[in-house]
Amino acid sequence: MSLRVVLDEECCVGHGRCYTSAPELFDSDDRGHCRLLASEVLEAMISKARNAVDNCPEGALTLVEDGS
Ligand code: SF4
Repeated sequence: MSLRVVLDEECCVGHGRCYTSAPELFDSDDRGHCRLLASEVLEAMISKARNAVDNCPEGALTLVEDGS
């Protein structure tokens, strides 16, 4: 099983919490909106990814399990 982050670009308004708290996973585009650096979340980054997902005020980020 692996985890990946899914970004709903329609929901993202650019609060910047994701790329501020987890710059290993997220960056900003030229409007300050989220840009995924890698959709697959490595084991060492799971906690940070969950934190970013939980703290997005717009609910624009989701963690999805691939396989089982
Ligand atoms: S915290 Fe959410 S709304 Fe803000 S930039 Fe990241 S994904 Fe977009």
